[in-house]
Amino acid sequence: MSCNKEDQGTVKVVNGRYKPSGKFHYPAPNTPIRDETGKLLGITNPRDIVHIHSYGGEAIFFASMAEGKLVASRCDNPNCETTGSIYMPFRIHCPDCLMKNTVVDITDKAKANATVYSFMTTERTGAFNSLPTPIKFVNVEFEGVCTILMGALIRGEPRMGMKVVPIFKTKSPDYIITDMLWVAEGTQEADLPEGYTF
Ligand SMILES: [Zn+2]
Repeated sequence: MSCNKEDQGTVKVVNGRYKPSGKFHYPAPNTPIRDETGKLLGITNPRDIVHIHSYGGEAIFFASMAEGKLVASRCDNPNCETTGSIYMPFRIHCPDCLMKNTVVDITDKAKANATVYSFMTTERTGAFNSLPTPIKFVNVEFEGVCTILMGALIRGEPRMGMKVVPIFKTKSPDYIITDMLWVAEGTQEADLPEGYTF
């Protein structure tokens, strides 16, 4: 299936509304489905579609990674039992009082004090996986943060308690979660994957 870059679907927001332009549906030639005797039983129907995926209140998280920053969120509601709790992964709202959280930059915390709580390694991945296999998934713990973030360790061998450092795809970011990966503490800048910086 090919998709011509020139008319590839793009979206802008004008006056708070989506304004799509270009192509969003790509048909491709079908193929016959036959039995052992050659009798026609059906056809395949290849289709590509482009999803318009809104980030809503999480957009700041993805925009920040592209700038080499990791932002979390914090409940600042004085009447909330868990006020002051910092959430990473980014939560738009406090799970306890449902008020909108405050955006907090935890980049320095992540660079100085991120450790592997647990990890798992997987050989088989889902569709459209772009990470090299085996993928070393790490559960990253930050000092002063009450939740744990799942990420991928791209340099080093995972072990519980190891210190890790985030790296960001600041050169041509994709604005998806793989814009941030993890490396073992002490990894050199020259050993980072293409396009990533500390
Ligand atoms: Zn709260």
